[in-house]
Amino acid sequence: MSNNTLFPVPDAVAADAWVDATKYQQMYDRSISDPDGFWGEHGRRLDWIQPYTKVKNTSFTGDVSIRWYEDGVLNACANCVDRHLPARADQTAILWEGDSPSEHKHITYSELYDNVTRLANVLKARGVKKGDRVTIYLPMIPEAAYAMLACARIGAVHSVVFGGFSPDSLKDRVQDCGSSVVITADEGLRGGRKVGLKVNADQALKSCPSVDTVIVVRRTGGAVNWVEGRDIWYHEALAAASSDCPPEPMNAEDPLFILYTSGSTGKPKGVLHTTGGYLVYASMTHQYVFDYHEGDVYWCTADVGWVTGHSYILYGPLANGAVTLMFEGVPNYPDSGRFWEVIDKHKVNIFYTAPTAIRALMREGEGPVKRHSRKSLRLLGSVGEPINPEAWLWYHSVVGDERCPIVDTWWQTETGGILITPLPGATATKPGSATLPFFGVKPVIVDNEGHLLEGATEGNLCIADSWPGQMRTVFGDHERFKQTYFSTFAGKYFTGDGCRRDEDGYYWITGRVDDVINVSGHRLGTAEVESALVAHPKVAEAAVVGYPHDIKGQGIYAYVTLNAGETPSEELRKELVAWVRKEIGPIATPDLIQWAPGLPKTRSGKIMRRILRKIAANEHEALGDTSTLADPTVVTDLVDSRMNRG
Ligand code: ATP
Ligand code: MG
Repeated sequence: MSNNTLFPVPDAVAADAWVDATKYQQMYDRSISDPDGFWGEHGRRLDWIQPYTKVKNTSFTGDVSIRWYEDGVLNACANCVDRHLPARADQTAILWEGDSPSEHKHITYSELYDNVTRLANVLKARGVKKGDRVTIYLPMIPEAAYAMLACARIGAVHSVVFGGFSPDSLKDRVQDCGSSVVITADEGLRGGRKVGLKVNADQALKSCPSVDTVIVVRRTGGAVNWVEGRDIWYHEALAAASSDCPPEPMNAEDPLFILYTSGSTGKPKGVLHTTGGYLVYASMTHQYVFDYHEGDVYWCTADVGWVTGHSYILYGPLANGAVTLMFEGVPNYPDSGRFWEVIDKHKVNIFYTAPTAIRALMREGEGPVKRHSRKSLRLLGSVGEPINPEAWLWYHSVVGDERCPIVDTWWQTETGGILITPLPGATATKPGSATLPFFGVKPVIVDNEGHLLEGATEGNLCIADSWPGQMRTVFGDHERFKQTYFSTFAGKYFTGDGCRRDEDGYYWITGRVDDVINVSGHRLGTAEVESALVAHPKVAEAAVVGYPHDIKGQGIYAYVTLNAGETPSEELRKELVAWVRKEIGPIATPDLIQWAPGLPKTRSGKIMRRILRKIAANEHEALGDTSTLADPTVVTDLVDSRMNRG
């Protein structure tokens, strides 16, 4: 369901913003016509130990080589910490809010410096050198940030594994990158429940001979098993370490981190990002997309285990000297007003979350939102999936009191930072559209044969040229990098996402290309049908996939989760079918609706449609890699009711 209502930029927002509509156009045009000049200038937002003389050196053909600022030398940690000390040693860097509302703390830039440098020395003492890999398996506690920055400081490559992952997923990721050190905690705390991290790590590390050191943060004080010689307590090691640790001079193209994608479409890929271009891009997008100004309190609710946490909790904000809020808990603990309570408590100005969270909170109604004032809020953001117009409008009117612009930011682990997004002072928004490209980004839409499609159109979303934040390779597998991203449409970076461009040149992500359904020769984006379903007052969430259909080629199979208090019935099923026909047209008529008490999601909250496709097609034996699922029992339930249907 596309929604063409235009929400203009409020005058007051445009007046105070870094970029208004005119400036956006000027800057964008220059970024495309003169990338060397544009990025050469903006690269200077960082402190360089040795300034670069070259800017862009990239090729999407042949062996695919992406180099930015290639003769520059810098250190990412020094840019996020040291350089802020003269002006803001006593300013909050990380504002940490615990799982329990009774716990929070402010960590200043000078405290950040102290913690990071000491941990860096601990790593060094355990033999970690530039280029070595360190796996971080921590809950959302400040030590996760210290660990990432400590690695960056000494040139070690961090691989953060989300604390909700199983021992098996952790093992795969440690083995893939061959870490020598794992940093974990006794237990994590989420929604009042303890999560056994050390016990998971112990289990995983049974088959990880590369690991000789496990650094354990004491979070809950719960009992842990101890391996002498391998395990050390974080607090003991830190107390004994010096805070004298000069930052390692790193080439702009030296690796900064590896991060595995969330696995929505298959086996996770070890995405490798390097230092200079990544940090320029993360900090610049953070400033412009969130219109960050000195003194703002900024909150991104992602976990540091995802790229959003890397770029927009840690690297982007800290490179900009911001106050970044880090939240240990979950949106519905102690109750579903927690987000809004935290916003009031810490006077949050900028709030960035995911559609999955918005939909979940929408289910609970306006009450929990309206109990809190939210008057400090100035800007709202969304990331992770297409946001259904229904959810967008709720976010806008209920959460933002129609006052706050929404930035719907489209990007990927691979892209390092936001690629398609409104800028709050420059771009009028449309609910459900990620709108326009960020500086230096050249989106193109191609048909299945790779022909460029012009004007208002729909097809496969590619990016025609490199931007500084782009991933450089799949760790240890450059061939897979080339195959996955550059072979489908020669010479272009293929995103894997489908996309529509409207008459105003706005981009609408229609979902993964694999999820596009072909009904009697008509291409339908799953996102569109899902949004129509979610717009029905009784529907909380929906996932739509294609399945083999004798007559139409593909039929539309919809999994539907109802709002709290609603019960499935044949009547409601008919009502939903009629509703979708009315919203989109007869071509989008769902052939089958299956009631789904829950949907299979990745740990980052994305619906895994590839599994739903298999269930719909009755291929229950071939579900593929399900290790990144948040709750595997959801799948069993869906398979059971599919089988009962026959
Ligand atoms: P994998 O690559 O392993 O299948 P993944 O694609 O879910 O996992 P991420 O890099 O976390 O891993 O997610 C990027 C994808 O998320 C995008 O390709 C897109 O499909 C979706 N996405 C992110 N933000 C948006 C957005 N604002 N609008 C629409 N889709 C989005
Ligand atoms: Mg992906």
